[in-house]
Amino acid sequence: MIVSMKLGAPKEQVEHVCKRIEAFGYKVHSIRGDERVVIAALGIGDVTHCLESLEAAPGVESAVRISAPYKLVSRQVKPERSQIRVDGAVIGGGEFIVIAGPCSVESEKQLMTTARAVARCGARLLRGGAFKPRTSPYDFQGLELEGLKLLRQAREETGLSIITEVMTDSDVGLVAEYADVLQIGARNMQNFALLKALGKIGKPVMLKRGLSSTIKELLLSAEYVVSHGNPDVILCERGIRTFETATRNTFDIGAVPVLHEMTHLPVVLDPAHATGKSSLIPSLARASVAVGADGLMVEVHPSPEEAFSDGAQSLTCEQFERMMREMEPYLKLWREARATAAASA
Ligand code: PEP
Ligand code: MN
Repeated sequence: MIVSMKLGAPKEQVEHVCKRIEAFGYKVHSIRGDERVVIAALGIGDVTHCLESLEAAPGVESAVRISAPYKLVSRQVKPERSQIRVDGAVIGGGEFIVIAGPCSVESEKQLMTTARAVARCGARLLRGGAFKPRTSPYDFQGLELEGLKLLRQAREETGLSIITEVMTDSDVGLVAEYADVLQIGARNMQNFALLKALGKIGKPVMLKRGLSSTIKELLLSAEYVVSHGNPDVILCERGIRTFETATRNTFDIGAVPVLHEMTHLPVVLDPAHATGKSSLIPSLARASVAVGADGLMVEVHPSPEEAFSDGAQSLTCEQFERMMREMEPYLKLWREARATAAASA
């Protein structure tokens, strides 16, 4: 149920409505928009009676039932796009955010060389896995704490914010000490214990779409994090499994406008895990800008052929620089489109 208050409805009226909702047995999530207060009520109860009662309460503009199973992340609840602040960068705002770095943190030299290169070319966040979810138990599993420490060192030296993956709920506290954004990998999109734990931290989370997950399932996973208390969720499309074998996965670039219609959360595209092939990344990076994504994540390695993981989809530092240069005309159009949308909102 969504209750929209009238413009400028005073605090007392909002509090009264919240009390009424709770009296009907629902849980309240109040969302203060730029212009008006919108209250989302979640739970099971006598909806019709509650709606009628609320519509009669002072200061209420409308009270409606919402049909989507995800509520807090839906655009019905919050029509304006969420902007997620990560240090100086805002994801979902007026800047297209580029996240770049190696698949895995391997060594000080590898990470620092990459961090310096991507920072110089305009990336805002440095990625790199310290805990790696690998399909085979015999593959490199990550440097763990040592990797987190190297990421912190790269942050201190370059000023880049850090995004890194957390794989289990017991590691959330540790990873949150080192990361500015916590990544949930595709294989963990429906790890509900992990999602609940991430709801309790005060740092943004980037949730990757599962290999075989629908958009609705992705949004329900995001709803887990938000309903447990953390509103700062970034969604990431990273390719899904289809019958196609020419690429590692199939890049569902259409997910961007679909998600932007369904949710207020920002959407980042990851063409590296979607395709598995570095030669395809620059054109798909330009397409990511053109389709209106909020950002892009790519893998960069000083020597892809020596990478411990995902070398075939990693750009060299030089290829990354060229990709960023070739994106610039598209980024100019992107910024104009964002400014126009912000002005007309
Ligand atoms: C990664 O970003 O390195 C990664 C493991 O991605 P995904 O979870 O999308 O496979
Ligand atoms: Mn990878």
